[in-house]
Amino acid sequence: MTRLHLHDTLTGRKREFIPGDPERVTMYVCGPTVYSYAHIGNARPAVVFDVLFRLLKRIYGENHVVYARNITDVEDKIIETMKATGASMKEITQKYADIYRADMGAVGVSLPTIEPHATDHIDEMIAMIEKLIEGGHAYAAEGHVLFAVKSFNDYGALSKRDMDDMIAGARVEIAPYKKDPADFVLWKPAKDDEPGWDSPWGRGRPGWHIECSAMTEKHLGETIDIHGGGIDLTFPHHENEIAQSVCAHGGKIMARYWMHNGFLSMDAEKMSKSLGNVKLVHELVEHWPGEVLRYALLTGHYRAPLDWTDALLERSQKSLDRLYGVLRRIRAESGDVPESVEAALADDLNTPKALAALFALAGEANRAEGDEARVKAAGALLAGGQALGLLEESPDAWFGIDSLSETERAEIDQLILDRAEARKTKDFARADALRDELVARNIKVEDGPEGSTWRLG
Ligand code: AMP
Ligand code: ZN
Repeated sequence: MTRLHLHDTLTGRKREFIPGDPERVTMYVCGPTVYSYAHIGNARPAVVFDVLFRLLKRIYGENHVVYARNITDVEDKIIETMKATGASMKEITQKYADIYRADMGAVGVSLPTIEPHATDHIDEMIAMIEKLIEGGHAYAAEGHVLFAVKSFNDYGALSKRDMDDMIAGARVEIAPYKKDPADFVLWKPAKDDEPGWDSPWGRGRPGWHIECSAMTEKHLGETIDIHGGGIDLTFPHHENEIAQSVCAHGGKIMARYWMHNGFLSMDAEKMSKSLGNVKLVHELVEHWPGEVLRYALLTGHYRAPLDWTDALLERSQKSLDRLYGVLRRIRAESGDVPESVEAALADDLNTPKALAALFALAGEANRAEGDEARVKAAGALLAGGQALGLLEESPDAWFGIDSLSETERAEIDQLILDRAEARKTKDFARADALRDELVARNIKVEDGPEGSTWRLG
């Protein structure tokens, strides 16, 4: 069995991954708040944890991994959008949840096992809040319920902050109903024109953090194996989730491994809606194949920051062209995931190393002697690509030439081979004539180290 190592934010170390129960490996990743389009930075955790989900299924078996990625469908920003547009909460959240699913599908993200919606779990949230109050970890005041951070000794352990940092970092609201400025909201009152639910503390709605604690407990259990999200969620969101869940569960830890992806930046500034420097997935997919976006996201190690540039996209397109070019020349069926790719992924999801392994396999396929060895190497390349959610298209479709008949494609392949031969024998007149013919047929040829690829110009 592949031995998996993952970096854990809580201990600050890379540790061997040992699930609580290998028959039911559990992972929860904080999903989107659905009030607008997802940007490519939001796609990073979806893609990273999709690669991990695929890897876990290969290691533990298809039906032994439960992955929950929630939809936050009640939150302040959604209410602001309701007020600004006049649309209902359901209209907004359904629209953007659908768009999110379509956008993530376009970058090759498979559906998680469960996609819980916060508004379907209000009862569970209320029950958890009641438990926290009973245990002396929360208190009701003026229609609010607050978590008392002083009641939890380990508060700050994940983000490694002391109380002063946390207060500054969270830009905490100093409110008269709070016993301590760092206390955070579990429940808050809803105004008459805002969505709300009846509760023991009056009509109101949950805070964001309790949503994830309640959904994690309901679908995955009190202690789960992996909890993930972007690095910005470490504090306050995940710190607060830990406080709520640990205190509601008699001190049991919430997750064995905490994983966080680094940020995508543009021009050295983090990509974020509030800064306005975002590239939306649904716009990018109009200009680039989804696999190019996915490849670009995987060029960096998930924990490192990644700068999003046009040059990165162009390089990613060229890299995929080279790999697909090999698969066009050597038709192969996908085989077992090669050891080189699996070992890279099992080492804390080292996707840059896994991509380099794909190029080594492409080189092997080109150099292999005899059809059997060539097809075997190409099959390994295909399987390695698919482990990353890449190389999922047919090579002809990738190059946009599947509309041509097989005879036409074979003719063009032959013209390109003849041209290479003419160049080799320094018959430049013939090489030029062949190039002219390719141009006349609207064929664009790209020569690369693995051989030439072509597409319709
Ligand atoms: P949000 O909808 O803002 O809660 O974000 C959804 C997910 O995307 C969270 O896991 C965030 O941590 C993550 N995220 C947001 N912006 C970026 C970014 N620029 N780079 C990487 N991840 C991000
Ligand atoms: Zn969450």
